[in-house]
Amino acid sequence: MYDHGRMAAYDPEVAAAMKDEYDRQKGKIVLIASENYVSEAVLDAMGSHLTNKYAEGYPGRRYYGGCEHVDEVESLAIERAKRLFNAEHANVQPHSGANANMAVFFAALNPGDTVLSMNLAHGGHLSHGMAKNFSGRYFNIVDYGVSEGSELLDYGAIRAKALECRPRLIVCGASAYPRAIDFKAFRDIADECGALLMADIAHIAGPVAAGLHQSPIPYAHYTTSTTHKTLRGPRGGLILCSQEHAKAIDSAVFPGLQGGPLMHLIAAKAVAFGEALSGGFADYQKKVLGNAKALAAGLSKRGLRLVSGGTDNHLMLVDLSGEGVTGKEMQQRLDAVGITTNKNGIPFDALKPTVTSGIRLGTPAVTTRGMGEADMDAIADVMASATREYDAKAGELRDRVKGMTESLPLFAW
Ligand SMILES: *Cc1c(COP(=O)(O)O)cnc(C)c1O
Repeated sequence: MYDHGRMAAYDPEVAAAMKDEYDRQKGKIVLIASENYVSEAVLDAMGSHLTNKYAEGYPGRRYYGGCEHVDEVESLAIERAKRLFNAEHANVQPHSGANANMAVFFAALNPGDTVLSMNLAHGGHLSHGMAKNFSGRYFNIVDYGVSEGSELLDYGAIRAKALECRPRLIVCGASAYPRAIDFKAFRDIADECGALLMADIAHIAGPVAAGLHQSPIPYAHYTTSTTHKTLRGPRGGLILCSQEHAKAIDSAVFPGLQGGPLMHLIAAKAVAFGEALSGGFADYQKKVLGNAKALAAGLSKRGLRLVSGGTDNHLMLVDLSGEGVTGKEMQQRLDAVGITTNKNGIPFDALKPTVTSGIRLGTPAVTTRGMGEADMDAIADVMASATREYDAKAGELRDRVKGMTESLPLFAW
C-alpha cells in the first residue's frame, strides 16, 4: 500500500502534495456523487509492476511477447464483469468512461450520423454530444431533456423526437438525473424508429450490479460505464454488449482509439469486480440508496427544494434559486466548512454553467466511510445553515463537520 514516508524519501515535493491530498480526503465530507474511496486491494493492484507491460491486443491475441500473465489478469476482469452484469461480452480496456462512449460512437456510427441524447444542461454528459466534445463535433446531435413541471424524463416526448429525427443511435444515462431510468422504454423507442441504443450507467453501475436499479443489459445494444463511481473500482471505463456487437466494440477500442491497455488498472478493475461479486456489495449499495433518501428527506424537511422533489438513486440536485445563493457560492461555503460538493446546473437554469443555481450531492463516498442515516440528517442540518445563516455560523459549522470526520477511517471496509 502507498507509504507516505517512503514517497517522501523518493520525492519530497510530490510526496508533500500527496500527503495534503490524503489529509483532505480524510478530513472532509465528500458528497461529490461521482467520487468514492477504493479498497486497499484496488490501490495495491493500481500501484504495481503491471504498469510496466505493453499488451496491445486482447488475451491470446497480443502484439507483444511476454503477455501470458497479463492475459490471465485481463481474462479475470472480463469474466468477472460479465458475471457481475450478466452480459455476454465485456471490454475492460477503455481508459475512462468518455473513452468507452467514444468507442461505441466509433463502432456504431459514421461521422455526421444523427444521435439523440440527453441535454447536458438537464443532466446528460459532455461525451453524449456537447458541442466542444468529439461527440458534438463529429455527429449531428439532437437532444432531449426533462419536462419543465415534473423535471422527469418524458418518454412520450422522447419518442416523438426520435420519430422526427430518426437517429442512428439513442443515448440514455446521465450524470445528474436523480430518478430511475426506464431502459426498456428507451429500447421500445429505439426499435420503433430503427435506432441502436447505448445506455451509459457510469453513475448507477453499482445499484445496477446489485439489482437495485433496472439493468440495461437486456435492452441496450451497448452499455458503457465508468468503474470508479458507485462501482468503487479504479478510474476507468467498461463496455458491455451482446456477442453480436463484440467484434465491432473490441476493434473500436483497439486499434480504433487506444494503443496499449493499462494492465495495472485492468488488474484493479478485476479486483473491484471481485469485490462487487462478493457478499457485502449489495448491502453497501442498499446503504448508499438509504443514505441518499435520508439526506434528501433531511434537506426537504428543512425547506430546501430538490429537483424532481427527491431521489431514487445515489444523487440529488438542490435547487438554490429561491435561496439567494448561487451554486458556485454554495460550493465555496460548503468547502470552507469541510464538505466537498460540486455546483451543478439545474434543468432550465437561469444562470450559466460556471455559476449555476444548484449543487449536486451524492452518498457513495460517505457510505463507504461508514456514515449512516443519522449522519445524513446532521449533514442536511449543516447544509441548511450554510444556505441561510452562513455568515453568523461558519465557524460553528466547521467544528461540527470536523467532529463528524475525526472518527472516520479512510478505508472503512
Ligand atoms: C462520469 C461520466 C462519464 C465519464 O467518465 P470519465 O471517466 O470521467 O471519462 C461518462 N458518462 C457519464 C454519464 C458520466 O457520469
